[in-house]
Amino acid sequence: MTYTGSMLMVVAPSGAGKSSLVNALLKQDAGIDLSVSCTTRAPRPGEVNGREYNFLSETEFLARKEAGDFLEWAKVHGNYYGTSKSWIESQMKNGRDVILEIDWQGARQVQAIIPQAIWIFILPPSIQALEDRLLHRAQDDEATIQKRVAAAKEELTHVAEADYLVINDDFETALSELNQVVLASRLRKNSQLVRHQKLTQELTQELGAANKQK
Ligand code: 5GP
Repeated sequence: MTYTGSMLMVVAPSGAGKSSLVNALLKQDAGIDLSVSCTTRAPRPGEVNGREYNFLSETEFLARKEAGDFLEWAKVHGNYYGTSKSWIESQMKNGRDVILEIDWQGARQVQAIIPQAIWIFILPPSIQALEDRLLHRAQDDEATIQKRVAAAKEELTHVAEADYLVINDDFETALSELNQVVLASRLRKNSQLVRHQKLTQELTQELGAANKQK
């Protein structure tokens, strides 16, 4: 399928500020739609079904997985998460840009199916900063915090698989860099050639004429 839109996958360890950055990006850029994942995790206070996630029971999730409803899925911290295939397909058909907030396992699966998908890794300025953020944020007990830190460090071992690294030290700088990755993705040759059909036809004619002269 020729896909003119951009598919952006944002991956980060928890504590890197991924959701804040993605939300700010979505506010600034009306051309991007956020993929709302399905999950078996319980909603957190303030989360709304259909907005942050589609909250499913494990039975529902597994039935949809079996039916092939997910473009990708993964088990993260003991819960299932998955991206709706039909939603992605309709976005692709309409040439809409999409952003997926997923983990490294999901990003790897999507890149295998849709090679033009762009993998952006959001990083903290240092491991110490990440640990500090997780410690300050959590109202949890020590064991849970240590589990989070360990999971965040595990996520970081997949940095080399990403296409772009955005370091979230200063929020505004990181947001601006994220915007620039989006812009660069929209300027990719294949997207531009499909978007600018008339120019593409002219260029094709020029190419044909040049080849004849050889
Ligand atoms: P949380 O439960 O804190 O919102 O998310 C936990 C982790 O699951 C995060 O790393 C998040 O990016 C990831 N995640 C959320 N939705 C999906 C999804 O649809 N697929 C995959 N593979 N990971 C997801």
